[in-house]
Amino acid sequence: MAYPSRVAQVRLKNLTKQFDGVTAVEDINLDIADREFMVLLGPSGCGKSTLLRMIAGLEDPTEGEVWIGDLMVNDTLPKQRDVAMVFQSYALYPHKTVQENIEFPLKVRNVPKPERAAAALEAASSLGLAEYVGRKPGALSGGQRQRVALARAIVRNPAVFCMDEPLSNLDAKLRGETRAELIALHQRLNSTFVYVTHDQVEAMTMGTRIAVMSRGHLEQVGTPQDVYDKPASVFVAQFVGMPPMNILPPGSLEPGPHVVGVRPEHLHFRGDGPLTMMVQLVEKLGHETLITGVIGDKRVVVRQDSEESLPAVGDRVQLDAPEATRHRFDAITERRIDA
Ligand code: ATP
Repeated sequence: MAYPSRVAQVRLKNLTKQFDGVTAVEDINLDIADREFMVLLGPSGCGKSTLLRMIAGLEDPTEGEVWIGDLMVNDTLPKQRDVAMVFQSYALYPHKTVQENIEFPLKVRNVPKPERAAAALEAASSLGLAEYVGRKPGALSGGQRQRVALARAIVRNPAVFCMDEPLSNLDAKLRGETRAELIALHQRLNSTFVYVTHDQVEAMTMGTRIAVMSRGHLEQVGTPQDVYDKPASVFVAQFVGMPPMNILPPGSLEPGPHVVGVRPEHLHFRGDGPLTMMVQLVEKLGHETLITGVIGDKRVVVRQDSEESLPAVGDRVQLDAPEATRHRFDAITERRIDA
């Protein structure tokens, strides 16, 4: 299938959405570059699906503008937007075969039958579905159904793919495999992807950039490495990274009223270290060990690669973190200080 070159940057300008007085998304400005894989990441209820649905045209903004390429599309119907949406629930027609499901967007556009059959078969084959095209969705696994939904989006050949938690119904192994397939798909299709998830592993592994959201606002937009290495706020620091960044009691590691955060892999046991932790849990995970305890009233996790000189539950241990690995945040605003 030949994919025409076109510019499909998505620009959101001062975008706000209210539902019956509840603000779901507030004054969002975001430029998504042509052919970017942008992940909208945040906890349940932060407004990421609402933002995606406004791009796809499934929700009308209360205020602000949605631009796709050179067009302001606020008043453009979803089917005229050159956008395909893939949902968590797959949204397949149960009585149609896989072939008919995949062909459907082309049928609606009155594409001649041989042409749409060929396009559907090609999309099905590219996702490893060729042998299932005669089956109904009920006779497929969850992973296969999600691939049918993807194939149906691919045949539309949209400028922008909008995906709302497409992997969350899949088991862990299949999620990992499908993540890799989506990355390959993005590279092959040369389209812009906007992908909603609450899973930071998906965001870190797939996104060319991540937009982290909280309570209807954008907290930070950056590459996965930027967001991990220089989180813009305490919220981002604790949302991206597993286990989350430790937030230490003020003044415990270094003087000052600011908040200091340290990732679990950057805390080290050192006999004369300034931090004292009471060990509560030691978890050996094979490739690493997580040691959990408390410093003051804060729960703290230390990640260690080796099993040498591990403390035991009940031990009191001293910890330190090299200066360069410390993250500093304003105690009031919780925004990064040395950004
Ligand atoms: P989730 O991951 O749980 O889907 P989300 O980050 O995608 O969450 P949204 O679905 O965008 O969040 O919802 C943001 C806020 O807007 C929530 O408080 C939600 O209750 C509210 N909301 C969303 N859709 C509607 C609606 N149709 N009517 C009223 N309130 C809504």
